[in-house]
Amino acid sequence: MLRRGLVAALAMAVLLPGAARCADTEAYRKARQRMVRYQIQDRGVRDPGVLEAMRAVPRHEFVPERYRDQAYEDHPVPIGLGQTISQPYIVAFMTELLELEPGDTVFELGTGSGYQAAVASEVAGSVYTMEIYRELADAALARLKSLGFGNVHARHGDGYYGWKEKAPFDAIIVTAAADHIPPPLIEQLSPGGRLVIPLGSPFSIQQLVLVTKDREGKVSERAIIAVRFVPLLGH
Ligand code: SAH
Repeated sequence: MLRRGLVAALAMAVLLPGAARCADTEAYRKARQRMVRYQIQDRGVRDPGVLEAMRAVPRHEFVPERYRDQAYEDHPVPIGLGQTISQPYIVAFMTELLELEPGDTVFELGTGSGYQAAVASEVAGSVYTMEIYRELADAALARLKSLGFGNVHARHGDGYYGWKEKAPFDAIIVTAAADHIPPPLIEQLSPGGRLVIPLGSPFSIQQLVLVTKDREGKVSERAIIAVRFVPLLGH
């Protein structure tokens, strides 16, 4: 009986497409609690919705298996093709800057692993995210689907041009470093909307800039902190 059960379990592990995913164990949940407390709250992030999202989203599922033991550490992690999943604090900080409300529609340029989109989707209504590498876009889409993030819509394409059919967006998040704000993204931002983008030289330190569009459509920019992101590609 025991042996049959074991064989069945092994067969499941081989056959199930999600077999490579590891469960959200107590150890992972504890690691997230610590991550939120010491890396995020201690550095000043206060938005309860953002803190809850960072505690809820299983970051280890978005990290390649060989780096999984680093998933909750205080730094970015490689995700292939020279790209990275951002440091947890930066994800939380950028999400807080967006001041998301439950019904908001968000656009993300740079899906990468899909982690930032998943976090934003916990606080907003829906997230549209675009990735320039097809391989990353397909992997993120499959991952988000299998983890049940039904309000994230991911697509392969050059996010410089936004996602016109789904615009306008209440919030836009750019997760690759640009030397200017893509004009299509300003156009696709709702009046009253917020956009965050790392601006500056792609191979050095950038400024995280918060762009706001007021009810009359007037756009203002404010530099917030120094950051380091991978470069914006394409366009
Ligand atoms: N937000 C991601 C991390 C982003 S790394 C996460 O949570 O994992 C930046 C990503 O932007 C990379 O995957 C890179 O391929 C992508 N990228 C760069 N230029 C792009 C463009 N013009 N359009 C869409 N994606 C782009």
